[in-house]
Amino acid sequence: MLDKLEIVERQNNALQKLNEIASISNINPKETLRQALIVGKEYYGLEFAIVSHIVGEDYTIEVQSSPTETLYDGQLFALGSTYCKTTLEIDDVLAITDVTKSKYVGHPCHKEFELVSYIGAPVRVNGIVYGTINFSSPTARHLEYDDIDIEFMRLLARWAGAFLERQFALDELSLTKKRFELIFENNASGILVVDENRSIIMANKRFCEMIGYSKNELLEGDVTIFHTSKKSSEIFQHHFIDAQKGSIRKLEYELKPKNSKNILCEFFGSPIELSKNSFGVVWSIIDITAQKELQHELEKQAITDYLTGLYNRRYFTNRLEEELSRIKRSQKTVSSLLMFDLDKFKLINDTFGHLTGDTVLREFANILKNNLRKSDIIGRIGGEEFAMILPDTDLESAVILADRIREDVAAHTITADWKQIHFTVSIGLTSLSCNDNNSDSAFSRVDDALYKAKKNGRNRVEYNVLSSIS
Ligand code: GH3
Ligand code: MG
Ligand code: MG
Repeated sequence: MLDKLEIVERQNNALQKLNEIASISNINPKETLRQALIVGKEYYGLEFAIVSHIVGEDYTIEVQSSPTETLYDGQLFALGSTYCKTTLEIDDVLAITDVTKSKYVGHPCHKEFELVSYIGAPVRVNGIVYGTINFSSPTARHLEYDDIDIEFMRLLARWAGAFLERQFALDELSLTKKRFELIFENNASGILVVDENRSIIMANKRFCEMIGYSKNELLEGDVTIFHTSKKSSEIFQHHFIDAQKGSIRKLEYELKPKNSKNILCEFFGSPIELSKNSFGVVWSIIDITAQKELQHELEKQAITDYLTGLYNRRYFTNRLEEELSRIKRSQKTVSSLLMFDLDKFKLINDTFGHLTGDTVLREFANILKNNLRKSDIIGRIGGEEFAMILPDTDLESAVILADRIREDVAAHTITADWKQIHFTVSIGLTSLSCNDNNSDSAFSRVDDALYKAKKNGRNRVEYNVLSSIS
């Protein structure tokens, strides 16, 4: 019999070694487990050691330590051919000093693998049986297993279970981290994390592309690096405070990239806890510059006449309705409406061709633009018909302007295909009235005036005084 003190010392040594193994962080988890198996082998004086993973009837060697090369990690056995099946059945330590002298004589493991001595215990991970840790030998053990040996086996099984548990948690954490990094880095939106001192804590690849700064440049600086002005910086700070409180969802904000023109971005902000009780904001950012430009272009196209660049009939009519509402509100305002129709335009088309006709229309539009004040509104309201609103302009002043345009047109020469073209315009005129309920009555009055100008010989200005003003 070994001296009791000697046994305790042996166990203490083994425990100390296990502690040392667990504290070494630079070896991989499998090797750590293998080192622990070697400690167990030495402790029990057995040659074979295994940590197994058992699923159903499959017994797989997770890690082994054996003198021969007959065992290898990942090796698969039928659970029924191992002593471990019995270990799982008794759900505790199974210790066999010499199988030939035990009730397990004839056990499949003895028959198949000729293992005579064995000690093993179930390993639990998160409370569920994961497999076993076991030691064995083809020869009988010299000593009977005592209570201390069995207790040490339980300890080894708990140690292995806790080790695997921690390892799986670390694996899960690293997988979660990798998944997060993938989502963060490869996100189609720019992502920016800012702390309460305006420092940039995180920036993803897309945001770096958007702003033209490298990740290092951004992380070394603060958000003022991409602000367009001091004022915009202050506005951003207000938005930051709102987002920090969770009271802001979406905002449009202009950013100044390193080497290119400003970009317009849509920001979605939400609070993020950066350290205990310290909140920053995580911004998800989309560059909407192209989208906005396209939207403006489409809006412009929707109100513009493609040939002359003037307003189209629909938009001009809307503006006329607005002007009528303004007049109605103020009652005192006097504004004028002019209508232009090119004289004998059909003849120009017939003589010089439709394309030259288009040139004439464009040239006429330019003459109108040249006579335009900032507040005046002009539109092409038909093929060769144009109209103009002169806000805050009485009939007398409007007649003077109309006549000037008429003279400009008559004096203008267009050269097309080495031919010189002259053309004239007839102009009708009226004042807008607070009694005009809609644009139709104003159009109808100005139409009458234009008709008069045509009837009276063309290249003329005629007006239609409001009968309702009297
Ligand atoms: P009036 O002096 O009585 O106004 O005679 P007019 O020939 O100008 O009048 P009419 O309304 O008979 O003819 C207008 C012409 O304008 C007919 C049409 O072919 C032409 N026209 C309409 N839209 C366009 C256009 O976009 N381009 C060109 N080139 N011609 C157009
Ligand atoms: Mg016409
Ligand atoms: Mg005409």
